[in-house]
Amino acid sequence: MSLLDDEMMKVASLLGEEDAVRIVKSLAKLKEAPDDAIANDSGVRLNIVRKVLYKLYDKTLISCTRIRDEKTGWYIFYWKLQPEQLDAFVRSRKRRTLDKLRARLEYEKAHSFFLCSKCGDVRLPFEDAIESAFRCPKCGGQFVESDNSKIVTELSKMIQKLETEIAS
Ligand SMILES: [Zn+2]
Repeated sequence: MSLLDDEMMKVASLLGEEDAVRIVKSLAKLKEAPDDAIANDSGVRLNIVRKVLYKLYDKTLISCTRIRDEKTGWYIFYWKLQPEQLDAFVRSRKRRTLDKLRARLEYEKAHSFFLCSKCGDVRLPFEDAIESAFRCPKCGGQFVESDNSKIVTELSKMIQKLETEIAS
């Protein structure tokens, strides 16, 4: 599979459909095909294939050609991946993720945090920890100051990686 198909897979999983990955894989292999051929190849039920195809079509990630069957007079729809649309789609997703990560990084840098020493589940910025008198609202445990330098480093790395990907 090419790099582009690989990206297409990511998009398919972003669509939140488990079967979308198999459908996209089949489309990449068949190049241009009607829904029943895609169902046969992918092993995904036809009604699900149609649902996913419409979703992809709605995001202009695939195109559709209507061809009239000479014998039956019925129209057959042929579906095809639109790799050139894919790049834009993936980039806009990445940009949105980048914005969120940058906002989170700013937040982490601007606050000091407190973590419940008992349950370890509750982590609050100083302002909120003060409000609950440094007691965990979940278990009543004592808050201790929590070093977020690892989180800051991780976030910075993720941001850098995304920035490089978007710039390339
Ligand atoms: Zn707790």
